[in-house]
Amino acid sequence: MAHARPITSLRNPGDPSASDMTIDLFSDTQTRPTAGMREAMARAVVGDEQSDSDPTTLALCERVAALLGKEAGVFMPSGTMCNLVSILVQTQAGDEIVVDDKSHIYNTEAAGSCAIGGVSVAPLPTKVGIYTPEAFEAAIRAPGRTAPRTALVSVEQTTSFSGGSVWRLEDMRRIRDIAKARGLKAHIDGARLLNAVVATGIPATDYAQGFDSVWLDLSKGLGCPVGAVLCGTRDFITQAWRWKYRLGGAMRQSGVLAAAGLYALDHHIEQLARDNANLARIHARIAGLPGLGFDETAGQSNILCFTVDGLGVTAAAFAAACLAHDVRIRAIGETIRVTTHLDVDAAACDRAAEVIHAVASYLAARRA
Ligand SMILES: *Cc1c(COP(=O)(O)O)cnc(C)c1O
Repeated sequence: MAHARPITSLRNPGDPSASDMTIDLFSDTQTRPTAGMREAMARAVVGDEQSDSDPTTLALCERVAALLGKEAGVFMPSGTMCNLVSILVQTQAGDEIVVDDKSHIYNTEAAGSCAIGGVSVAPLPTKVGIYTPEAFEAAIRAPGRTAPRTALVSVEQTTSFSGGSVWRLEDMRRIRDIAKARGLKAHIDGARLLNAVVATGIPATDYAQGFDSVWLDLSKGLGCPVGAVLCGTRDFITQAWRWKYRLGGAMRQSGVLAAAGLYALDHHIEQLARDNANLARIHARIAGLPGLGFDETAGQSNILCFTVDGLGVTAAAFAAACLAHDVRIRAIGETIRVTTHLDVDAAACDRAAEVIHAVASYLAARRA
């Protein structure tokens, strides 16, 4: 196993002592703003976001709305708030929403839709976060006195906790059409929608067309420190603003943050393609190893999930063994998750693949 410790990036420009030699594939939320992004933030023209007079924030919202083919957008502190506000605007207490069982909404938003909106969540069982249009249609409740009213369906493009799998456009469109026909709202959790766009070449407008609400995260692969932009019709955004305000999400000189978003849209979309390519290289290097389990959709974007129970160890033990060799990956339950992003270049990803390969090979040999 190689022990050389390459410096993969100077993590905090202006503060060389803070450089970090671990190859961090824990999540694409680990990115630090680049020197160029910090300069753009420092130069930002600002105003008061809460009264729609921060010009940089307005420019970002318009830019993302155009990118997604929607009438309007609103800047949010987080993707979690985008999901919650989309649900709050488009449901009533006592309604039910349909999501996949691996989704961020179902698993890691502290049950916000229930706690704040009084909305229950129907998680469809899936292998990797992708359900069929038929399964969705079957989950819609018949109207009546006793059942909850099914009010909204959400698609997570790309899937987060189950390996960056990319939804097929035709499946998303069928789900959207079923929702329309049955009087439901259709939502896209597009935290990593742009990773799907660069993976498939299908424009974001095509994915988002006809969906009532859709958002992008700025703080994942796009590399910003904070923020997400939620889009929809003008009327939807007016209502979303009321919830944003109620939840404490309204800001003041948010142009400093929005400038990072505009910078990322100018400079980091190409990086998402590199992230996907780097992930594919890691996948190719370890895909054939005995004891590792991959789904057939593995390696489609910038996240790779696999199981290690075939090696006789827990995911946590496997991740710890990799960390001992300066490669940080994530154990989520019994799954390993590896995520590429702009702070790890191709050479670092190749080295990480060697470490994962070496750890897995060692464990497999020990077992044999
Ligand atoms: C990260 C993520 C969120 C939440 O976004 P935050 O900006 O971290 O609040 C929601 N959905 C998916 C699929 C995500 O990956």
